[in-house]
Amino acid sequence: MKYIYHFVISTALILITMTSCQNKKQVDSIYYNGTVYTVNNHFDKVSAFAVKDGKFVAVGNDKELMNLYDADKTVDLKGKTVYPGFNDGHSHFLGYGLTITTNADLVGTKSFEEVVERVIEHSKSYQSDWILGRGWDQNDWKVKEFPTKEQLDKAFPNTPVVLRRIDGHALIANTEAMRRAGINPQSMMAGGEILVNENREPTGVFIDNAMDLIDRAIPKPTLKQKVTALKTAQENCFAVGLTTVTDAGLDKADILLMDSLQKAGVLKIRVYAMMNPNWENYDYFLPKGPIHTGRLTVSSIKLYADGALGSRGALLLKPYSDEPGHYGLLLHSLSYYDFVCKKAFDAGFQVNTHAIGDSGNRIMLKTYARYLKGPNDMRWRIEHAQVINPADFHYFADYNIIPSIQTTHCTSDMYWAEKRLGPERIKTAYAYHELLIQNGWLINGTDFPVEGISPLLTFYAAVARKDLKGWPPDGFQMDNALTRKEALQSITIWPAKGSFDELFKGSIETGKTADFVILDKDLMQIPESEIPLVKPEATFVEGEEVFGRK
Ligand SMILES: [Zn+2]
Repeated sequence: MKYIYHFVISTALILITMTSCQNKKQVDSIYYNGTVYTVNNHFDKVSAFAVKDGKFVAVGNDKELMNLYDADKTVDLKGKTVYPGFNDGHSHFLGYGLTITTNADLVGTKSFEEVVERVIEHSKSYQSDWILGRGWDQNDWKVKEFPTKEQLDKAFPNTPVVLRRIDGHALIANTEAMRRAGINPQSMMAGGEILVNENREPTGVFIDNAMDLIDRAIPKPTLKQKVTALKTAQENCFAVGLTTVTDAGLDKADILLMDSLQKAGVLKIRVYAMMNPNWENYDYFLPKGPIHTGRLTVSSIKLYADGALGSRGALLLKPYSDEPGHYGLLLHSLSYYDFVCKKAFDAGFQVNTHAIGDSGNRIMLKTYARYLKGPNDMRWRIEHAQVINPADFHYFADYNIIPSIQTTHCTSDMYWAEKRLGPERIKTAYAYHELLIQNGWLINGTDFPVEGISPLLTFYAAVARKDLKGWPPDGFQMDNALTRKEALQSITIWPAKGSFDELFKGSIETGKTADFVILDKDLMQIPESEIPLVKPEATFVEGEEVFGRK
């Protein structure tokens, strides 16, 4: 009897198992035994999720998922943490790729002598007609002044050399480069500056729009160079956990190049491409309406209000504290901004304007307000929103204008920003918390290659407001720090919202595309000082592993 009883029980168990097996749904993969930050509306934490056809099909706990699903691949996360794929809300993807593949790297140089040395080294290993470099910053030097061309002329008497400042808002050219560009003492450019010495001769430094005079003469990169640049940039971005990047200003040909590389499967990273304000782009893109292919989003026009603070091009309401009588530069006429805003508004596109100084910001906020009129869901953006007059924060809330910030700019600029702005204006500069509360969300990014590409350093700068050495010990203007939750949202779901893609990506939720990152440590729990040391273990786009730490 006992045996029969046992037999009945076992058969019943087998039957139950068989029927439940039959009822289990087949998926491609199940990830379990992890700490998964979904970044959904409730900021839920789960331990498992299932992926099928590149989408999350279930998100929950281990037992639930194992009971409901069968997968070809089951992955034990062994307690590691998972986040939605990181999204850099403001970067220059192609520019970064070209910089790392064709330019001398001048980041971190301690003097102009060192800059010239690095350029000489670079020219030995990289043959080209024009020698290009990027990344110098006179604020890092002992003599914190713009360099002049003499040393470059000595090292390169016959080869044109053009070296861009870290922020991309100034460059130094040697005499041969200026000769080829046709620069003469009468040369000038609205919205830009050509620095001159006491004899009224150009020193070699060109600021903001004046850089165009030199840029026009530099041979354009070839298609092959661009493809190499994009592939190299993609590889680096995947390795830091990015699954979406932004290109803040592209011409039609480059947008179409990215689209074709994505369609060919060469470029798997998602790109939010802002179009440069030119007729070729308007004629081609505006009549189509915003494009969302999944991999590529084209829904905005990029504008520049002013320059940058480091090169004193940012437009201020009152003169620079360290240069009497100097206000910075407005890069275009007011009527021009109106013209572009009207075009974008009529076509249902976003306007994303670079604005750094308090005057640059005020001009754009007021211009936007004239078109947006009141509450709206157009998601027009102010890129950087760095120095805001206290009287102007309300524009962001009243007109639903979205700040697109770069938290590492704060920790890069904090050493000298007060010199430019003085003790009053600095209080509402890099005011990220104040900006966040205006709409309840904002977009975060790096502006790479102005900063490094890592979203983890963006996260760290947002919460700690310290440099990598832990300075200042109490953080810089901590009233404007973001919480870890906000910082995570600012590099995942919010930039997705910033490109109208939040229903498709940006969180780990059923139905969304399976873009996710596995990190070796828990960003939300570890001591702050350990955040910069966190490493991505693997990065996935649409369920496919695009990076894995060996
Ligand atoms: Zn930028």
